[in-house]
Amino acid sequence: MLSCPLCQNSSCSIFYQDKKRSFYSCPRCCLIFADGRSQLPPQALKQRFSQPSPAKKQQQLANFVLPLLDQLHQLTASQLHGLNYGRILDAASQQIITEQGHLLEQYDPFIAPNHQVLRHSYDFICCYRVFEHFRNPQREWALLCRLLKTGGWLAISTRMLSDNADFGKWHYKNNLAHVAFFHAKTFSYLAENSGFTLLFAADDFILMQKTSESGINPAL
Ligand SMILES: [Zn+2]
Repeated sequence: MLSCPLCQNSSCSIFYQDKKRSFYSCPRCCLIFADGRSQLPPQALKQRFSQPSPAKKQQQLANFVLPLLDQLHQLTASQLHGLNYGRILDAASQQIITEQGHLLEQYDPFIAPNHQVLRHSYDFICCYRVFEHFRNPQREWALLCRLLKTGGWLAISTRMLSDNADFGKWHYKNNLAHVAFFHAKTFSYLAENSGFTLLFAADDFILMQKTSESGINPAL
């Protein structure tokens, strides 16, 4: 048995095994995670992610961030200060955001490891296809909670686990850089234990709002 890297439950059991990796499931937060011993070494990750994403992926990221910002702006009717965590938006999209009067900081551990931006607090944080890469999701979650203002939004895009799908045939888990797989129930668990309201969790999109200053539940 292994401990869950998100909620620290110590009774996680083997869920699935293939030729390359073992996956464990947590009965408390419903996270499925790859055994740490099978994870890619840091040097391999650096090599893989040190180059800017291909144009198609850049566009997918822009298609996530720009409409999200429009919607949040409609809700608040004010200029927003946000953080794009984990990936970097292309220059043209950044320009659009600046022209709209918003300010979007960016952090990418490989391309833009700017720790300065992790010392502020934000009206919103967006994470496009980032959560599945979290080797230490508890630490990452604590950081995101800390960086978000009360009332702020957290928008996440990740492929979620489905109760009906066949995990063995799920191509998403074959990418060795993907080490954490979230269920909608995992986000419910996080919301309940961290002072968030879960507004939406379906079709790879999760939207949460930080509703209290309670921050992290020590048990998490
Ligand atoms: Zn857990």
